[in-house]
Amino acid sequence: MPLHGPDYSTLFTLLFFCFIILTGVIIFYLIGRTKKIDKNIDTLISNDTLPKKPKIPCIMCGSHLRKGENLKSEEFKGNNESIIHMYGCPYCYGPTAAQKRICPVCKKNMPKDGYLIGRMWIKKNGKKHLHIQGCTVCSIRRN
Ligand SMILES: [Zn+2]
Ligand SMILES: [Zn+2]
Repeated sequence: MPLHGPDYSTLFTLLFFCFIILTGVIIFYLIGRTKKIDKNIDTLISNDTLPKKPKIPCIMCGSHLRKGENLKSEEFKGNNESIIHMYGCPYCYGPTAAQKRICPVCKKNMPKDGYLIGRMWIKKNGKKHLHIQGCTVCSIRRN
């Protein structure tokens, strides 16, 4: 039996090393896999949000705005709320306009020099809230 002693310890050391290497491989595999998953999530997010990002259609002509196309507006900051003047998007306002600008309040075609008047304030939950009062024709008539 004492003769076999060293053999057993060598076998044990060998097994121990095998175990260490195996654990190392498993850990590396798991790290690699989580990295891959993170990468997948990243590509999923960027694929889904960037090109398909739902942009709010123009409130005057209903055109869906693409990246870089914005509603032309002016903000007049007050103490608690801002007054917003909205002129339109590239499809209904300016030299590229092809669509009619319809006021969402009175549903009438807006005059060329008209614009929408809105009030914007920050709600208690921190989100911006925009209330559209109407176009220069209907909102002034009401006031
Ligand atoms: Zn528009
Ligand atoms: Zn109106």
